Amino acid sequence: MTTQGQLFIGGEWTNGSGSETFDTVDPSNGSVIGTAIEATSADVDAAVEAAQRAFHDDAWRGMSASDRGKLLWRLADLLEANASELGELESRDQGQGVGFATGSMAGAADQLRYFAGWTTKITGTVSPVSIPGMLHYTRREPVGVCALITPWNFPLTIAVWKLAPALATGNTVIIKPAEQTPLTTLRFAELCTEAGVPAGVVNVLTGGPEVGKALVNHRGVDKVSFTGSTEVGREIVRGSASNLKRVSLELGGKAPSIITQEADLDSAVAGSMFGGLFNSGQACAAYSRFYVHSSREAEFTEKLAAAMSEVKMGPGSDPDSQLTPLVSAEHQKHVEDYISSGREEGAEVVLGGERPGGEYASGFYVPPTLFTGVKHDMRIAREEIFGPVLPVITYDDPDELVALANDTDYGLVACVWTKDVAAGHRLAHAIRAGEVYVNAPPLLDPAAPWGGFKSSGWGREMTGEALDSYTETKGVWVSLGE
Ligand code: NAD
Repeated sequence: MTTQGQLFIGGEWTNGSGSETFDTVDPSNGSVIGTAIEATSADVDAAVEAAQRAFHDDAWRGMSASDRGKLLWRLADLLEANASELGELESRDQGQGVGFATGSMAGAADQLRYFAGWTTKITGTVSPVSIPGMLHYTRREPVGVCALITPWNFPLTIAVWKLAPALATGNTVIIKPAEQTPLTTLRFAELCTEAGVPAGVVNVLTGGPEVGKALVNHRGVDKVSFTGSTEVGREIVRGSASNLKRVSLELGGKAPSIITQEADLDSAVAGSMFGGLFNSGQACAAYSRFYVHSSREAEFTEKLAAAMSEVKMGPGSDPDSQLTPLVSAEHQKHVEDYISSGREEGAEVVLGGERPGGEYASGFYVPPTLFTGVKHDMRIAREEIFGPVLPVITYDDPDELVALANDTDYGLVACVWTKDVAAGHRLAHAIRAGEVYVNAPPLLDPAAPWGGFKSSGWGREMTGEALDSYTETKGVWVSLGE
């Protein structure tokens, strides 16, 4: 069965003003599972107008903080009640394991509940101004119409990370899901209606980069929250200049996983493997360069290769699959090109590296691939691969580690494996990254801020920091006539 998607504008489903559509495919076999509409610039105008109207409409503007919280909570309940269906849809569209996708719906519901709790706690301050007879206080007001532009790796989860704080603070939104994976965001819009979200508060426009660009350039859009590549992040900053939109960016990463000389290798292998291979390496937080003390390299590589060779590759629909196909044929080729570049630059493939045939031939599979003999300046050690490719680099002098870890434009995530607590903290403080994990795989929680240093982005998702990014501070000056 294929899904025929429409646009969701002003609370109505519509085919929009154009005639262009695009297909979305099942990454495990390339078959078409859905068709979506390529929104036109007139559709973008219509969605922005609907979001602007809803922003000022009493149904939303006049809704109490407590009722906004209940609304987000209802949405969370609906997400959970429909988690199996949504997880299955996400798995078919994105390729990821059905269990993982279904579990991620519970994570998204947690985000909604976390921000549901915040709606009644967004306060201003009374400011101690030194001007006689003046009362000054601040209000935190919504920014306005927010364009939420999302990537294909965790489609609905990332949309909810943005939507929850945006709605908690009273904004209206237009979500533009990635063209590879629009289906769960469209289904989520139906749940918004069911939860009682007023018309125009949540709109969904499907389409490719042109739709994203039109939103970014639109003077009626007040804020863009974008998750995606650093290259597109730069374009968004340029495009937002017209009306100086507020911009939040969650971009790429190249996370080092540092295995110190005295690390517990079994934990380091297990955590590094999970960190490198979850969602088939298609994660901004993926551990993707492994600095191993030269005295432990042979043991680490042997154990990692053994563990990786046990990983069961298969379609997301099979609950036993541990490594699922990549999202598209184009991305499969992109990852394979990195594998070729690693070979050409002189690194050695210990495991994987070849496109699998047989039952895997029609899907976009890349097997778990382990490189040794990698030098810090090779492309596979420096650039974001976004696939199940793990490069191992050796070091001798622990004093070099901070410089090696920081020698990158990225700064999203880093990891340190050590039994020396003090060394773990020292490295965590010295590495320039938004998240540093010590003896742990990459994890997320709505109560922990998420985002990057340097070219990995601007701002933080989750926590009160996300609320700040969806509000403007207004000062009110009142003469007390004294
Ligand atoms: P992408 O940048 O190609 O596309 C992301 C979204 O932006 C899509 O919806 C796309 O249609 C849209 N888009 C493309 N060009 C645009 C433009 N010029 N203007 C406006 N919108 C445009 O990224 P992708 O390939 O979908 O995702 C992979 C990237 O996302 C990786 O680099 C990854 O690290 C990053 N990512 C980061 C995080 C994080 O939290 N930091 C999370 C997930 C993914």
